[in-house]
Amino acid sequence: MVEKPRQYPGDSSARVLIIEDEAAQAELISYNLENKGFHVEGALTGEEGLELAVETVPDLIILDWMLPGVSGIEVCRQLKAGRITRKIPLIMLTARGEEADRIRGLETGADDYLVKPYSINELMARVRAMLRRTSPASVGEILAHGDLVLESASHRVFRNGKPLKLGPIEFRLLAVLMQNPRQVFTRNQLLDRVWGVNCDFDYRTVDVHIARLRKSLVQGGGPGLIRTVRGTGYSLD
Ligand code: CA
Repeated sequence: MVEKPRQYPGDSSARVLIIEDEAAQAELISYNLENKGFHVEGALTGEEGLELAVETVPDLIILDWMLPGVSGIEVCRQLKAGRITRKIPLIMLTARGEEADRIRGLETGADDYLVKPYSINELMARVRAMLRRTSPASVGEILAHGDLVLESASHRVFRNGKPLKLGPIEFRLLAVLMQNPRQVFTRNQLLDRVWGVNCDFDYRTVDVHIARLRKSLVQGGGPGLIRTVRGTGYSLD
């Protein structure tokens, strides 16, 4: 595995992994995504792509069908069979427009499908549409839960209409919890999603920031919102 510690302090914009062997294509996509504030990782082979996907758990993967070595369809199959990677939305790119191939791509688990030559604007629109469904806070959406409102574009959080002061890590923690209310997250899952997969922090770090977040959420009164699930982790209730 490539050693690549990653952190995303206070940044809730989405992380996209592009697996495409044609450098010019990859650069075009990456340029357009970065222009819109996305964090982009690129892999030129299927092997590298699989490794990076497990390592960085991106919010979305753009995968080319025609790759040297492990084919795109095989990469897709492996990603969709992987415990960590199966939930990552995946858009497949291909020169193959035949119906049988399209069906095969979707059957292997691709969430969306674009035939080359595609318009870069259409790809951007598909990326945003997918992320709006799967991780709304990453594309500038507003999340609401009970009396809590989180505006990801302005990095502001309100409770009962009153702004709350939150550190960047607490903001990202809250965004993850608000995207999946009532879901119990293990400390490990929170480390992956808030700090990045290869971070050096331990569970204690999660507890410290959860404690700070709890304190921030009750600044203006109101009951606590984060539940500790003994021996497991935390959830927003
Ligand atoms: Ca290719």
